[in-house]
Amino acid sequence: MRIFENYESEVRGYIRSFPTIFEKAKNSILVDEQGVEYIDFFAGAGTLNYGHNNEHITNALLEYLKKDGVVHGLDMATTAKKEFIHSFQENILKPRNLEYKLQFTGPTGTNAVETALKLARLVKGRSNIISFTNGYHGLTQGSLSITGNNEYRDESYISRCNAAFMPYDGYFENIDTIEYLRKFLADGSSGVDTPAAIIVETVQGEGGINVASKEWLQRLEAICREFDILLIIDDIQVGNGRTGEFFSFEFAGINPDIVTLSKSIGGGLPMAMLLFKPELDQWKPGEHTGTFRGNNLAFVAAKTAIENYWTNDDLSKAVFYKEKILKKHLESIVQKYKQYNISIRGRGLVYGFEVLNDSSVASEISAKCFNNGLIVETAGSEGQVIKFLPPLIIDEKTLKNGLEIFEKSVEEVFLEKEKHLKMEF
Ligand SMILES: *Cc1c(COP(=O)(O)O)cnc(C)c1O
Repeated sequence: MRIFENYESEVRGYIRSFPTIFEKAKNSILVDEQGVEYIDFFAGAGTLNYGHNNEHITNALLEYLKKDGVVHGLDMATTAKKEFIHSFQENILKPRNLEYKLQFTGPTGTNAVETALKLARLVKGRSNIISFTNGYHGLTQGSLSITGNNEYRDESYISRCNAAFMPYDGYFENIDTIEYLRKFLADGSSGVDTPAAIIVETVQGEGGINVASKEWLQRLEAICREFDILLIIDDIQVGNGRTGEFFSFEFAGINPDIVTLSKSIGGGLPMAMLLFKPELDQWKPGEHTGTFRGNNLAFVAAKTAIENYWTNDDLSKAVFYKEKILKKHLESIVQKYKQYNISIRGRGLVYGFEVLNDSSVASEISAKCFNNGLIVETAGSEGQVIKFLPPLIIDEKTLKNGLEIFEKSVEEVFLEKEKHLKMEF
């Protein structure tokens, strides 16, 4: 590890939570240089929904490279791009009655978010954007301005880029947060300008697995229509099947104006894009550009993922089936440790596990899991929530093994806590 300590910036993050050198990975398993295997319940923060080195995807990539397919082509037309667009239209958008134009941005999530904000402002001629408490949208300046987590919101930034925060679903116990938002919009003197757009995650991933209800999302959409505001769904982390359906907003029957996608859209390779209603396509040619828009290897991977997993509902069904296993096991842990007051919540294969009586315990559990061969990360404003994000293709046995390791690790941490307490008295 010394090479990283000596030469890589202090900014390095996940390496500290999972301090080993990973050498290989397949599906839901990571292997380090010592040959130790880890079950991956983190999946690249939602980038590896189809698993590490998914066989279908790897084969398609090897074949494409062998025949000298174009790897970099700026945003020129390529066969790989043509085939991806066709596949996405036919298998994802059309069956869901969604009519969107596609825009490829630089290959990271925050690029897609920046582009969404820019387009919304351009179309509406307004500069304010509303986002929500504990929302996470990336760390370049525009995205950062609408990200809640104060760990990232550095005061040295010169501008907050005209953004306003409103309470997310469930932020207050007894306040109707949609009514609250409505009041600010309806009152011209509230101090909150009518925004160009409202941006929201249906499940807040980094923010601690806070889940918006169907009704809340429907009412949010209605408010956007009432005040002529664009609705942006940031589906970067919980899209691509994470909640069981391809888009995380499908269950609510809403029709967002703009959708951001990244993380798993490229089948594990860097890729980001924007979907928007055709009437919003008010860009001039080349008005928003970038060198790595359209990563052709990612197009090949993305198309392969769609054609293997989204031409029928097998994967969706499997996600809901595995959700039951995950939920049941977590609920049994909640029951076993009632005195710790544990909350669990989620949708599909994104779940949070929060020990309400002790916010510091999550990072200890994550560290213990790592020692026991399981990669699981924390989320939330204080890292107080354990986040379950296994690859969607995880097999039942590995899922159950991972959950056993988790339960054992929780038990070890709680036992240590109790021992400590006894020593104090
Ligand atoms: C990860 C994430 C982003 C930022 O993506 P990057 O690729 O890290 O820039 C934006 N929004 C959400 C919801 C995310 O989870």
